[in-house]
Amino acid sequence: DQKQNESIGQMIEDVVKLLKSQAKLKNIEITYSKDVELSIFCDRSQIKQVLLNLIKNAIEAMEESGTIDISIGHVDSCIQIDVIDEGPGIPEEVIHKLGEPFFTTKENGTGLGLMITKQILERHDATLEIFQNEDKGSTFRMRFPAIC
Ligand code: ADP
Ligand code: MG
Repeated sequence: DQKQNESIGQMIEDVVKLLKSQAKLKNIEITYSKDVELSIFCDRSQIKQVLLNLIKNAIEAMEESGTIDISIGHVDSCIQIDVIDEGPGIPEEVIHKLGEPFFTTKENGTGLGLMITKQILERHDATLEIFQNEDKGSTFRMRFPAIC
């Protein structure tokens, strides 16, 4: 592993740049607070891969137009990153299958993105929680140990 203190905002910015044209095609806006300066101790390329997987899934889940919000905060001595979409959400009976290798509902899906995501997060002592939003869509919530 190549772990260092890395700015979350910078990693998000890099990944959003990569996905901007794909989001634009569906008229999806990706928002995040640029003024939050928080860092995590991580392998930069791996965490960018995680962010890419989650934001890409959010884009793919959503219909034409809407917002994906990435929210960063310091919660319960953890650094929390939420990827919040306005897609259809995930049926209760499907949530526990997410991250199983090859589980996909997409015609051309691999069903590997969330499995890889979970593995990378485990290597960072981070957790992934998935839940339905009250209004619409779902949230993929990561929690990393805060840097002391
Ligand atoms: P893939 O994207 O190749 O299907 P993933 O492991 O990334 O594989 O995702 C597995 C499945 O989880 C998807 O096929 C989809 O059914 C579901 N999923 C993932 N992210 C979302 C999301 N944001 N909203 C709704 N369903 C999702
Ligand atoms: Mg995927």
